[in-house]
Amino acid sequence: MSSRKHNFSAGPCTLPLTVLEEAQAEFVDYQGAGMSLIEMSHRGKHFDAVANEAMALAMEVSGAPDDFTVLFLQGGAILQFSMVPMNLLKPGLRAGYLNTGTWAKGAITDAREYGDVYVAWDGEADNYARMPAGGEIGIEDGTRYLHVTSNETIGGIQLREWPTVDVPMVADMSSDYLSRPIPWDRLDLVYGGVQKNLGPAGMAVVFVRKSILEETNRDIGRYLRYDIQASKQSMFNTPPVFTIYMLGKVLRWMRDEGGIPEMEARAAAKAALLYDTIDQSGDFYRCPVDVASRSHMNVVFRLPSEDLEAQFLGEAAGADLLNLEGHRNVGGCRASIYNALPHESVAALTDFMRSFQADNG
Ligand SMILES: *Cc1c(COP(=O)(O)O)cnc(C)c1O
Repeated sequence: MSSRKHNFSAGPCTLPLTVLEEAQAEFVDYQGAGMSLIEMSHRGKHFDAVANEAMALAMEVSGAPDDFTVLFLQGGAILQFSMVPMNLLKPGLRAGYLNTGTWAKGAITDAREYGDVYVAWDGEADNYARMPAGGEIGIEDGTRYLHVTSNETIGGIQLREWPTVDVPMVADMSSDYLSRPIPWDRLDLVYGGVQKNLGPAGMAVVFVRKSILEETNRDIGRYLRYDIQASKQSMFNTPPVFTIYMLGKVLRWMRDEGGIPEMEARAAAKAALLYDTIDQSGDFYRCPVDVASRSHMNVVFRLPSEDLEAQFLGEAAGADLLNLEGHRNVGGCRASIYNALPHESVAALTDFMRSFQADNG
C-alpha cells in the first residue's frame, strides 16, 4: 500500500501490514457472527478461541518451557513495576535492581513503595551509555530477585549478554520482546507492554514461573495477584479483547515468518545497516552509546548541532520517514526498528542520512 509511511515510532509502533489488513477484512462481521469481535461476550466461543490461540502462540513463539504460564494483564509494563514487588517481596527479603536508564529508574521508584530495594549496579556515572558486565553486578544477602531492563528504549542500550547471577532474575523486556531468545532458566518472571513488538497498546504479556505462584503475597487486591490471574487464565475481569485479538495475529505472523531466530537475524541486519551508516559518517552522525551495548531495537544518534537535528527531522518527515525524534527528555534522534519494521524502511532511512550529510556535512 503506497500510502504507508516509514514509521520509526518507539511505541505504539508499526505493525505488520498483513495483520492490519486481516483485521480490517474481518472487523465488522467476525466469522459470520453478525457483529464484530469487540462487541461480543468475552466468555463466548469466538473470543474464547481467540484468547486460547493467543496464549498458546505466546508460549510457542517465546519458547517458554512448561513450568511457565503466560498472563495477559492490563496496565502495561508500568503496572508490572508495582505488581512484581507487591507479589514477590516479603519482609526480610530484598530486591536488587540494575539502574540502566529511564525505565529502570521507574521500576525502582515503584518497587521502593513495596519493599526493600537496592541498586545492584548503577549506570548513572556513565550517563547510562552502557549495560553492566556480569562481574559488576553486586548481589546482596536476602535478595529475592534481580530486576533487569533488557533494553532501555530511551537510552538505546541493550543487555546484549544476559548476566549470570545466583538469584532469579525478573526482566522488563518491553522493547525487545520476542526479538531475541529468552534465558528461561535464569528467570522467575518476564514482562513487557505489548505495544512495542507485539501489538496495539492495552496490556502487558507476563510469563511467570508456576512454582512461584505458591509463595506470592495474598494481601493485595485481587486483580493484582498473579496466582488469581493464573487460576482464571487472565479472565478475572473483562480483558482487553481487541489487544488480545491483534496480539494473536502478530504472534502468528511472527511464527510463520520464522519465529525468534528470524526476528533476531532481521534485527541484527537492520541495526548493522544503521550503525554502519553512523560509524562511516566521519562523526557527522554520532551514537552516544557504548559499542558493546548498542540496542538492536532503538538506535539513538546525534548530529553536529540541535539546529541540524531539527532540520534533519523536518526533511526526513518530508521524505515519509516519520517519528525519528529522540525521547523528549534526551533530544537527538532515535530510530526504533522493531520486529515489524521492514528492512526497506531502514534502507530508506540510511539512504536519506547519506544524502542529508552530503548536502549539509
Ligand atoms: C515502554 C516501556 C515501558 C512502559 O510500558 P507501558 O506499557 O506504557 O506501561 C516500560 N519499560 C520499558 C523498557 C519500555 O520500553
